[in-house]
Amino acid sequence: MKEFDVVVIGGGPAGYVAAIRSAQLGLSTAIVDEYIGKGGKPALGGTCLNAGCIPSKALLDSSEHYHRIQHKYASHGIKTAKVTLDIPAMIKRKDEIVTSLTKGVAGLMKKNKVTWLQGHGHLELGMKVVVTPQKGKPETVQAKNIIIATGSVPRTLPNVEVDQDRIVDSTGALEFQEVPKKLGVIGAGVIGLELGSVWNRLGAEVVVLEAMDDFLAMTDAQIAKEALKEFRKQGLDIHMGTRVNSAEADKKGVLLKYEDAKGQYEQRVDKLIIAVGRKPHTEGLNATEVDLYIDESGYIHVDEFCTTNIPNIYAIGDVVRGPMLAHKGSEEGMMVAERIAGQQSEVNHDTIPWVIYTWPEIAWVGKTESDLKQAGREFKSGTFPMRASGRALAMDETTGLVKVIADAKTDEILGVHIFGAAASEMIAEAVVAMEYQASAEDLASIVHAHPTMSEAVHEAALNVSGRALHI
Ligand code: FAD
Ligand code: NAD
Repeated sequence: MKEFDVVVIGGGPAGYVAAIRSAQLGLSTAIVDEYIGKGGKPALGGTCLNAGCIPSKALLDSSEHYHRIQHKYASHGIKTAKVTLDIPAMIKRKDEIVTSLTKGVAGLMKKNKVTWLQGHGHLELGMKVVVTPQKGKPETVQAKNIIIATGSVPRTLPNVEVDQDRIVDSTGALEFQEVPKKLGVIGAGVIGLELGSVWNRLGAEVVVLEAMDDFLAMTDAQIAKEALKEFRKQGLDIHMGTRVNSAEADKKGVLLKYEDAKGQYEQRVDKLIIAVGRKPHTEGLNATEVDLYIDESGYIHVDEFCTTNIPNIYAIGDVVRGPMLAHKGSEEGMMVAERIAGQQSEVNHDTIPWVIYTWPEIAWVGKTESDLKQAGREFKSGTFPMRASGRALAMDETTGLVKVIADAKTDEILGVHIFGAAASEMIAEAVVAMEYQASAEDLASIVHAHPTMSEAVHEAALNVSGRALHI
């Protein structure tokens, strides 16, 4: 029986990073992954590379180009002739990016001498992992340490069958070969907004049905309000406080029946995306049989160091508590590998940034004002509107704002919230500041290049003490 210092189950951004770091630290390492890519071939990279972060951003960028040509170029004095779409070519470009990255991860495994055991992995007592490949016989390997990184899968709705044709989840929504005339989306969360935006920009009429009354409840309330207004202006027909009663597919499309406080409604759509959240994936892991503790919400229970209730078995990424974000999983992967190697690494879960890749983007780190109100902590905030930024004007990207929230007494930055072009890049500065427990005054004292979008962060920090210069 082959023996490894570390066996990682799951080859997504949590698992493959854990494997690379383990190998870098001199631990003999294997990675077990069962994902079968679009061409029917095994592919590393998990949800993120194959059907998540990367393909969605490829389509977001392509659709943004199309939108800009139609709606933004004229104001720059650029005239365009009739612009046409080639959706199969757009999808092919996305697929090529995915293949190049998943092959890249396989190459990294080889370079770092990580053994890739293709197939489904399950746990057996005595620190054994049984790998059942797509073809061939199962193989059992012995592990000194096991890192579980089996990720998450989409939540479904009772009585709504996802056929990946008319009714799709996020994976199916990345594969449409033509623009649906009318597209329904259930869930105005991160996926609903990102993928709804893609198809809306490409010409679909998009109706989004959301159960909650509050739009993007986890974000800053002021930003959520502006974003809702902006997304509706862009054409997303977002209905809050709705309850979907049924969604039935037929040859022509999908018949949606739903209600809200005012009444009951029916709508026909050509395609329907179900985007109502994701759940941790532990199916087929044999967790109960080896006494691995799974909590009542389905997550593998871990402490702050990702240690499970079984010695030398760890769990990281979407399958454990915390935000379901690729970078959160990767950081946990590095931490666990380093702790196995005897180092004292940790992850600061308070400074994990979030980005929603709509246009403009929404990005934040730390607490919102409502988090702080609920916790009874006194704070002060400074905001700066993008319309007052010279660079934003030059770019014709004046929607949005930056908000910096600081402790009322110590001035320590507690949260930074951005709605605007390049928010995904600007947030990095806020993460660094918070990681070093900087004050709003520290951020306000740092020289920012002119003219840049990041000057808006500088101005918002100045404005925590009422000192913004350009408003
Ligand atoms: P996963 O990436 O889900 O990987 C788990 C892997 O384990 C898979 O390959 C799976 O096949 C394999 N596996 C599971 N069980 C077994 C088993 N028993 N044996 C063998 N293999 C197994 N996050 C961001 O941070 N930024 C984004 O922009 C972003 N965009 C997204 C867009 C979409 C449409 C979706 C769906 C998600 C997006 N996410 C994004 C979330 C991100 O994809 C996840 O947080 C991330 O992939 C989690 O990484 P992971 O390694 O924990 O799990
Ligand atoms: P989500 O939790 O962001 O949004 C789901 C939405 O569906 C919520 O607003 C919820 O209230 C709503 N909902 C739930 N049940 C409903 C029902 N029956 N009818 C109508 N609405 C309903 O989940 P998601 O958008 O599916 O994405 C899953 C996760 O994947 C995200 O939370 C995030 O962790 C990750 N992700 C991240 C990114 C990114 O980082 N940019 C992008 C995509 C996905």
